[in-house]
Amino acid sequence: MTTELEIGLYIFILAGFLGYHVITRVPPLLHTPLMSATNAISGISLIGSLVVAGADYSRLSTALGFIAVTCSSTNVVGGFLITDRMLKMFKRGHEIGIQRRWIKFNPKLLLAFPVLFVVFLVFMHWFRRSGTGTQLSGAALSVSALRYFYILSAVLFILGLKGLSSPKFARRGMFLAAFGMLMAIVGTLFHPEIVNYRWIAIGLAIGSIIGGSMGLRIPMTAVPQRTALSHSLGALAASLIGISEYVRHVGVGLDSVKMTTIGLEVVIGSLTFTGSLMAAGKLQGLLPGAPITYRGQNVLNITLLAAVVGTVIYLVFAPAASTLFYVMVGLALLFGFLLVIPIGAADMPVVIALLNSYGGLADASMGFVLMNKIQIITGSLDGTSGFLLSLLMCRAMNRSAVNVLFGAFGKVAKEEVGPAAAMGTVRSITPEELTVLFDSIRSVIIVPGYGLAVARAQHGVSELAKLLFTRGIDVKYAIHPVAGRMPGHMNVLLAEANVPYDQLYTMEQINPYFPEADIALVVGANDVTNPAARNNKSSPLFGMPILEVDRAKSVIVLKRSLRPGFAGVDNELYYNPKCMMLFGDAKESLNQLFAALKS
Ligand code: NAP
Repeated sequence: MTTELEIGLYIFILAGFLGYHVITRVPPLLHTPLMSATNAISGISLIGSLVVAGADYSRLSTALGFIAVTCSSTNVVGGFLITDRMLKMFKRGHEIGIQRRWIKFNPKLLLAFPVLFVVFLVFMHWFRRSGTGTQLSGAALSVSALRYFYILSAVLFILGLKGLSSPKFARRGMFLAAFGMLMAIVGTLFHPEIVNYRWIAIGLAIGSIIGGSMGLRIPMTAVPQRTALSHSLGALAASLIGISEYVRHVGVGLDSVKMTTIGLEVVIGSLTFTGSLMAAGKLQGLLPGAPITYRGQNVLNITLLAAVVGTVIYLVFAPAASTLFYVMVGLALLFGFLLVIPIGAADMPVVIALLNSYGGLADASMGFVLMNKIQIITGSLDGTSGFLLSLLMCRAMNRSAVNVLFGAFGKVAKEEVGPAAAMGTVRSITPEELTVLFDSIRSVIIVPGYGLAVARAQHGVSELAKLLFTRGIDVKYAIHPVAGRMPGHMNVLLAEANVPYDQLYTMEQINPYFPEADIALVVGANDVTNPAARNNKSSPLFGMPILEVDRAKSVIVLKRSLRPGFAGVDNELYYNPKCMMLFGDAKESLNQLFAALKS
């Protein structure tokens, strides 16, 4: 084991621990921005890609480097932009309609970017030139200077993630992280091995345009699929750089350490690429959302995985077996595809978070291949973040981590429910009838769920809440950790509709308020309100912590039918005598209720 490798491993482990401590402090409110922030930071694979695209290794390496630069810069630009768009939305009550001062028009901050950029360019240029005739060559000096810039960038990334521990400092933190990224990228452009900037410039331009338009335009409801897509781009970049490094070194001899790291990078990168692409397709509705299962599926997957591991081990001892290397790439791509097809679209968020952590591992492996410490650090941070988020989701869904890790996604057993009549009578109500109820109340707790995202009803909810507020009614929002289809999904949608985050309550905070609430207004939520999770040991939901809406004085549920939600379990709440169903699309129902209350 080489010393470099040992140092790399220490860095990887320590960054993982640091990442754990920083990321566990990120509140559920900011879990969706956290996902896109780690996505942006993991775009640091760009710096390795820049060197491969600009160096004079071979035509193939330049082509692979160019594609990797395009993919990574798409992630960097898109990731930071969409994170900032989300964070800008999180405001307290008194901040609604006001831009935060330090971001609004602080000319010093805006000037800092170009000024530092120019200073940095001059500095690096001077370093490269000044070495001639001295002890160290200019190239060696610029490489050693670059190392310090990378250390600074790593510190800025960690501070950036730390900023996400509060909505107040989150944008500031991301600004630091973006600055760290800019520094690392610009510094890398002075890498002595880079001799041609043509493909770098084209790749950066294409990536920035695609990333920029995605970051600025994508609707908040499409954040899950964008996240999956950007994981696939990051993983593709890692995989291509691994292939390029293999091709470059295979002729001159590859030691076992280098071959192991290349093998890991390419295998994890390839399976994450196809897996994430499938996840994005399912979430976007381009592929069937239902799980695709067949006999012998698990046996086939395990055999394939064993074959992939086997080829990596063989290549470590016989790295010159190039054909086998490409077979390994093909098997890994196929494995990623087969791993995700049996998983239903609704379970994709857990898959995305897991693929996020795999993508982090691919990035870290790329760091080991190129012996680039900053990539090891960011890969480790990304891996920890994805893994932690998937564990949090599992806990909130009352599913085991083993169940997640071994791919039984989307196969939650359907509960055997008797005919609806056996559970009692369902009472429905019209918006006009509801106005009478709203005349005599003092407090409402709004419970948003996945249906709110489907109906895009966040603005309708916000308008209704404002109207109730003007009538002196206390309004609170109850946010379940896995309401919707992404961690923090509801928080982002409500923030988009200008709902102040100080009105959003976590499950632990809000549950004691339900018995005092006059109305629990459930908008498109189902599983997260099902009392069976508390009362019915035979229910698949049993043990999942829920929002205790049935303890409110009255419950109003806005949904289209009595159909179950994600878990496929009938909701006994709808048969509770306190519960009234306002059937219809959530957005339309809210509009009608708003109009009825106004008139
Ligand atoms: P849910 O249980 O999936 O229920 C959503 C409900 O929304 C459906 O029953 C549906 O009923 C209704 N709906 C759909 N479109 C609608 C529309 N246009 N207007 C009105 N209602 C509409 O959602 P949830 O209560 O938010 O629970 C989330 C579920 O997802 C949990 O089981 C959780 O474990 C799972 N999950 C969450 C995450 C995460 O990170 N958030 C990750 C993975 C899994 P109708 O068809 O009758 O309208």
